Amino acid sequence: MEFYSLTDKNTRRTFREATIEGQAPDGGLYFPSAIPTLPAGFNWKEASREEIAFQLLQPYVGDCLTEEVLRRIIQETIDFPFPLLKVYDDLYALELFHGPTLAFKDTGARFMSRCLGQFAASRDRKITVLVATSGDTGGAVASGFHQVEGVDVVILYPSGKVSPVQEKQLTTFGDNIRALEVQGNFDDCQQMVKTAFRDPDLKKALFLTSANSINVARWLPQQVYYAFALQQWTNEAAPVFVVPSGNFGNICAGMMAWKAGLPIQHFVAACNVNDVVPRYLLSGHYQPETAIATISNAMDVGSPSNFVRIAEIFNDDISALRKMLTGYTVTDQQTKQQLAATYRETGYVADPHGAVAIDAFFQYKSAGHTNKAIFLETAHPIKFPATVEEIIGHELPLPASVQAIMQKPKEATLLPNSYAALKEYLLYSR
Ligand SMILES: *Cc1c(COP(=O)(O)O)cnc(C)c1O
Repeated sequence: MEFYSLTDKNTRRTFREATIEGQAPDGGLYFPSAIPTLPAGFNWKEASREEIAFQLLQPYVGDCLTEEVLRRIIQETIDFPFPLLKVYDDLYALELFHGPTLAFKDTGARFMSRCLGQFAASRDRKITVLVATSGDTGGAVASGFHQVEGVDVVILYPSGKVSPVQEKQLTTFGDNIRALEVQGNFDDCQQMVKTAFRDPDLKKALFLTSANSINVARWLPQQVYYAFALQQWTNEAAPVFVVPSGNFGNICAGMMAWKAGLPIQHFVAACNVNDVVPRYLLSGHYQPETAIATISNAMDVGSPSNFVRIAEIFNDDISALRKMLTGYTVTDQQTKQQLAATYRETGYVADPHGAVAIDAFFQYKSAGHTNKAIFLETAHPIKFPATVEEIIGHELPLPASVQAIMQKPKEATLLPNSYAALKEYLLYSR
């Protein structure tokens, strides 16, 4: 399978090249030259999770990994449960937080890190993964890449703006993982990373790549849990998927799973007030904004990077897109009210991102839709204790993995909010 750049279709790459590079030299996102469908007669409902993941991903990987290696990578990637739970009669939770860092990003980060580890092994130059995080990416990337040979990881995070658990998850690994605590906000971190990718001095000194959902090896494996949800789905009609969305990588992967032939009725993009896409679906005008801080901070994105991939899936046809995608905006106040209501009505403790999705589902239902739905519970509520514990009125028990990490000392380098400081760090502090 070849991948082309969405900004220049003549830029073509193998899966290996696209994974190593992250994005095209001109900043374009890579997209597969064809969207493969599951083999005819393949009984995905009865297949093992490993087998369906293999069938979904193998065509993209092609001969860049042997079957044996790909199967091993898949097995390590999905080495934890993906349970589907009934929360309301017509709404189920697909819990994606049972991986090592308690957020859905573990699936993509684990797959990508292992692919990159394979590809790095056959190169003479080290790869430096440079990534900015608003919270969950950092931990998932740190965990996924820890002790992967041939890869160094540098994570930038905004000082004081990630939760205590999130901070520990990205500052306690050591070895090939380094954390930079930036005296600025997430947009500042993101901007510094973007500048670094364009800096010719750094290009000479280091081989830099990113590990966000722009990377095909992080984006595409997110398809697999849509299939795992459908394997557990016992209702007759195909479900609607409600996806808490920020950069739109997760929902866009779901659309690839739908294109592969899995029975999905519709997608609902659940956004906080950073709602560029819901507004686009209503007005037809795409208007990126600067991000606004909310309590569902992993979705505080003013210019969703994967939107261009969604446009490509639907051939830039907004009426076709509207048939398959609806978007809703959920304010912080609505998020808190929904989190409280769901806890009161069902006993289910959602995290703020999940609560945004539940609220979006009820907005969708109020608009007259009667389909049963699955929302993606993208993080464990313990990652947002300040918000969740205040609403539910008691402390949440710490999962064992978190208890261990909270004991470890934080190791981070404090960095002023300046690109020059990042550059100096990357060039000289090895
Ligand atoms: C990253 C993240 C999201 C947003 O996912 P996208 O793929 O960027 O749309 C939603 N919820 C949580 C908890 C996240 O960490």
